[in-house]
Amino acid sequence: MSASMSAVGLDVQALRRDFPSLDQQVHDKPLAYLDNAASAQTPLPVIDAIRDHYLRDRSNVHRGVHELSQRATNAYEKARVKVQRFLNAPSYEEIIWTRGTTEGVNLVASSWGRANVRAGDEVLISALEHHSNIVPWQMLCQQSGATLRVIPMNQAGELLQDEYERLLTERTKLVAVNHVSNALGTINPVREMIAKAHAVGAVVLIDGAQAIPHMAVDVRALDADFYAFSGHKIFGPTGIGALYGKKALLEAMPPYQGGGDMIASVTFEKTIYNDLPYKFEAGTPNIADAIGLGAAVDYVQKIGMDAIAAYEAELLSYATEKVAAIDGVRLIGTARHKASVLSFEVVGVHPHDVGTILDREGVAVRAGHHCAQPVMEFYGVAATTRASFAFYNTREEIDQLVGAIGKVKELFG
Ligand code: PLP
Repeated sequence: MSASMSAVGLDVQALRRDFPSLDQQVHDKPLAYLDNAASAQTPLPVIDAIRDHYLRDRSNVHRGVHELSQRATNAYEKARVKVQRFLNAPSYEEIIWTRGTTEGVNLVASSWGRANVRAGDEVLISALEHHSNIVPWQMLCQQSGATLRVIPMNQAGELLQDEYERLLTERTKLVAVNHVSNALGTINPVREMIAKAHAVGAVVLIDGAQAIPHMAVDVRALDADFYAFSGHKIFGPTGIGALYGKKALLEAMPPYQGGGDMIASVTFEKTIYNDLPYKFEAGTPNIADAIGLGAAVDYVQKIGMDAIAAYEAELLSYATEKVAAIDGVRLIGTARHKASVLSFEVVGVHPHDVGTILDREGVAVRAGHHCAQPVMEFYGVAATTRASFAFYNTREEIDQLVGAIGKVKELFG
């Protein structure tokens, strides 16, 4: 085992060399990038895949008989199959390219929601959701006359499963919950939650934005009806993501947007829509970034999702122990099952001040409400400071975080 090898066998220093952006000084300090839950860094193979597209194959997809268009189409569709296999989805037809998780949720709320949700129905979300898995459902409920219900949580940040069971009735048309909470890191028992929802005939959308970089996701084993995620959380480009949907549901849904590529034929009297998945992909897509996302999926699969999860569990437990031991620091979100997110409060110091001082020490974290204001309200805070880890982070960077929190205390103590 080399000196840079972690206890679970990841050669973190070698992996870090794939991420040139990690190797820089910020305010004359080595960068410790601990804001991965907002956006992860991008490795060279992803950048190369995008660059290759622009350097060699730049053209539109599905439209040209010429060589460049065929190459671009092949790479673009190959990337879709990579995502399909990564999620263990039965068919490429069930993978729809989106701009990210937000668009995936909006697509389902607009298309499936408007076709299936009526006055008197209920949509069930949780107290842990990101705004992007709240607002589209509120909009749907306002438009349809349905009622939005919320699964409550306990102080640790775990959803109350008995309350969930009580809220599930024959009125529940859809359950939308995250797999992992971005604000707290809680891993929700989505497999069990999906089975319970199916028992009352409800359809389930899982917001996978924060699960996808941290663990193996198998939509078949979960029996998820819809699963949405974003490329930039999994070391891919921004502005691209994917939505998995079960074929029978997608086939029965009306299109989300109209335009080119989503049609089989158009006359002024009648349009026949294209087959899946193209029915949901109007207009010229984000070709280069879809290819980049395919490369990101290849990259993490090469490392192995189980190895990533094991290494990050080690990092999280090290960070939790170190940060919790600092006098005057309160951890926010202490669920038994967590992914690598550490939200905390330095009591008496505004999180924006904490974030700014940490930045001066070279430590990049997120300070804010994390697009989860109801979670902040639950804990009686306006914002938290959140450190979030990826497989390329190290114990030394966590020590740097701990030292920087010490600086905050010195300045505000
Ligand atoms: N859901 C969760 C749990 C998230 O953490 C995020 C992003 O932070 C989103 C949804 C929205 O993702 P995007 O902005 O990439 O659409």
